[in-house]
Amino acid sequence: MPDSGSQQRDPEIAKSVPVSDEVKYTTCYMCACRCGIKVHLKDGSIRYIEGNRDHPVNRGVLCAKGSAGIMQQYSPARLRKPLKRVGPRGSGEFQEIEWEEALATAVEWLGAIRARDPKELALFTGRDQSQALTGWWATQFGTLNYAAHGGFCSVNMAAAGLYTIGGSFWEFGEPDWERTKYFLLFGVAEDHDSNPIKLGLGKLKGRGAKIVSINPVRTGYSAIADEWIGIRPGTDGLLVLALVHEILRAGKIDADYLAAYTNAPWLVIDAEGAADHGLFARGADGAALVWDRKRAAIVSASDAEALPALTGERRLPDGRRAVPAFELMARRYLDPRFAPDAVAAETGVPASTIKRLAVEAAHAAFNEAFVLDQPWTDAHGRRHATMLGRPVAMHAMRGISAHSNGFHTCRALHLLQMLLGAVDTPGSFRYEPPYPRPIPPAIKPAGPAEAGKPLAGPPLGFPHGPEDLLVDAARKPLRIDRAYSWEAPLAAHGLLHLVVRNAWKRDPYRIDTLFLYMANMSWNSAMNTAETMQMLAERDEASGEYRIPRIIYSDAYASEMVAYADLVLPDTTYLERYDCISLLDRPISDSDGAADAIRQPVLKPDRDVRPFQDVLIELGARLKLPGFVDAEGKPKYPGLYPDYIVNHERRPGMGPLAGWRGSDGTAEGLGAVNPQQLERYVEHQCFWRAEIPEGARFYKFANRAYLDWAKAMGFIDRADPIVLQIYSETLQKFRLAAQGHGAAQPPPEHRERVAAYFDPLPIWYRPFEESDGSADYPLHAITQRPAAMYHSWGSQNAWLRQIHGENALYIHRATAAAHEIADGDWVSVVSRHGRIAVRAKTMEGVNPDTVWTWNAIGKRSGAWNLDPKAAESQRGFLVNHLISDLLPPREGGYRYANADPVTGQAAWYDLRVRIEKAPAPTQVSEPHFAAAASPPLAARPSILRYGAKFRPQAKKT
Ligand code: SF4
Repeated sequence: MPDSGSQQRDPEIAKSVPVSDEVKYTTCYMCACRCGIKVHLKDGSIRYIEGNRDHPVNRGVLCAKGSAGIMQQYSPARLRKPLKRVGPRGSGEFQEIEWEEALATAVEWLGAIRARDPKELALFTGRDQSQALTGWWATQFGTLNYAAHGGFCSVNMAAAGLYTIGGSFWEFGEPDWERTKYFLLFGVAEDHDSNPIKLGLGKLKGRGAKIVSINPVRTGYSAIADEWIGIRPGTDGLLVLALVHEILRAGKIDADYLAAYTNAPWLVIDAEGAADHGLFARGADGAALVWDRKRAAIVSASDAEALPALTGERRLPDGRRAVPAFELMARRYLDPRFAPDAVAAETGVPASTIKRLAVEAAHAAFNEAFVLDQPWTDAHGRRHATMLGRPVAMHAMRGISAHSNGFHTCRALHLLQMLLGAVDTPGSFRYEPPYPRPIPPAIKPAGPAEAGKPLAGPPLGFPHGPEDLLVDAARKPLRIDRAYSWEAPLAAHGLLHLVVRNAWKRDPYRIDTLFLYMANMSWNSAMNTAETMQMLAERDEASGEYRIPRIIYSDAYASEMVAYADLVLPDTTYLERYDCISLLDRPISDSDGAADAIRQPVLKPDRDVRPFQDVLIELGARLKLPGFVDAEGKPKYPGLYPDYIVNHERRPGMGPLAGWRGSDGTAEGLGAVNPQQLERYVEHQCFWRAEIPEGARFYKFANRAYLDWAKAMGFIDRADPIVLQIYSETLQKFRLAAQGHGAAQPPPEHRERVAAYFDPLPIWYRPFEESDGSADYPLHAITQRPAAMYHSWGSQNAWLRQIHGENALYIHRATAAAHEIADGDWVSVVSRHGRIAVRAKTMEGVNPDTVWTWNAIGKRSGAWNLDPKAAESQRGFLVNHLISDLLPPREGGYRYANADPVTGQAAWYDLRVRIEKAPAPTQVSEPHFAAAASPPLAARPSILRYGAKFRPQAKKT
């Protein structure tokens, strides 16, 4: 009798043979998106990585990077053991040491600093996903010189959002993918929130919603958009203000929304020259005032009965004149200089297109408005039977942010959203918990600590006015990166890109130790890369001491930065440790729910490496930092990071994880420590999510149910309504200070600049590098992140390298033809600052005034355990060599950072260049730096293979 089908089937073509003997859930770290993954293991090795279909971030979707996590895990570039530098800095000569020696050395260095002056330690991290820990560690150590990479990345986006709508795009808010009908995407390449955006765009496409991508380059999301607007870099703010002009002119604004939920009706004092000019008129209780059309009287803005006016000059009881913020705003943007015809040449977008975009956005907001049959109660107790939907959504990212005008551009975009009533209404942009937060956020940056003491608060925060700046009596910066000084007052993420230069220059003071984690400061995390390398390795002529006396570095891989460290603390991979994706940091919430997650060790390290977070906690305990030791001086978290994740309380009931709190594990948000919390997370696929209650999911800034829920969860301290800010009184306070008012005023050299750029309404100005109109550098040069790579980690990954093994300079065909450049030609790219030689490729989908390349592909020869002749170092390149970290000297010699004047965000998309056909053919991109010696690493096979051992045995015949 014939056997049944399954026994007859050839095992080699069976479709569902088990491939693994164990599956572990954890969270991806191949980019910032933090998707849920299932790691399939076979005989203790990774068989493959699968997206977790239950996970709220990715719903099973896994990108190329996520799949290639296998090759990250088995990379020959992984560091193996702690290292002590034995050759000169930069030589790459190291000796492997034991952890005890490494930790004792770090404790000796750091302990002496803390006893002397804690701010002599600068702790800066790169794409660290444990900032809730690293920032708190800095607080306990007592150094205000702490930040992650936000100042180099997109702080303009974050700060503009938080100072305007109490939230931001990025991964802190999302379009209403289910309901929006018109979606404007500004400056977004593959980036943060990668898989959610892909999933969302798929939904929009499925529903036939229109996607408009505004981006100088047509790749990725722009390539699948219904319309691509190839704008000139740095002019997005002007385009947005022209859209504002058009919708104001057409009267297509949501006046009810503006009156009810924004400060548009708040009366602004009009008393030119007075100390209160431009501030809000306030009552005795401090509440802002509005003109009530119903009672024809001035009343408190919080009066629920008022019908606030948006226009009209009023007399305050004391005789001062005041006008609503809306009127000031409308007067400004109705000016013909914002008309489409006036901005078309500057933006490179035809006036007819700008007009049509405004019509389309307004059409979606008003003609396609809809109601959700969802009753709700607002923060003033008013009952609403339905929720009004405005199906126009916007999203933006680094492309508009990394300019010297990025802060105001981001604010302009939020203004446009508010005018259309399109912030957290159905169909529009939606906050993700714990946002929205009060405006500005309550936490202010802490000043320096005394020797041996912790800071009084966190090192990063949000100034509310000039009095919150971190400057000394002479008005000089107190932080090494100049954050929160008059040069960068709202530097909410610190300024990673200024640390090396200032530490080298010893300005404003000498630091002793630069402690870096995952920050490739000698290569792709630096502007002005060649000089940065010199600064890291330079000695003081008189003393012979390195100008930056000590550098401690922690990373999992042999990046270019390793060669410049004195002490290297090798980290694990993301699959070998516990991690905490916390609501105290950068959570994985979505607009319908709050969520957080963990990583759990999927594999045991096969090297003598330790999780950086464990090391930090161990150092904290050895240094006896408050918070890291108990009353008897014993380690408070002897189980290191997992112990901290479970048992640390930032305040009573609030810990790193919000799920399964309380002694019985039933509390969410706030609750007592649950010793079984990590086990619960592991049982639940390593994530927790709590749905926002029905009726609380829109209008979150003024929704009683949401505000009460958010307070109960610990996201906000008070359940007061959050009023969106079309007009920023905070910015006006800085401007008044620059005009000579108040006790805290900028020094003379900064006055003009603060007065110019601290405008309470969004402004647009040419990016600094372009503002002199020089014809010598007629092109913009920008970078984009490819879909298949995140940062410099990616281009040492054997699978991802096969997708992007080298990069080229992409030039518009017409521009290339004008320079007689053809595909594959070598070209010189010249900026004010430097020159590189690279290979060119031509394309249509790029703004003709713009050249671009993929970022972070170029590698320094010898780094990352790549073959010294690897394509990444031979033909790959960085444009960082062309970017100066400083602007040209001003009168008197002072050089501002090449950065936004409000937040200090690095302006690396401001770069201007010219291109020239290379005089002679070459095969190697320039500049080319001598290879540093490699630290001791695993042997590097000439071809890196993985997976052959899992092949089924050849069938016996
Ligand atoms: S989008 Fe990012 S986090 Fe998600 S799978 Fe890809 S690399 Fe991993």
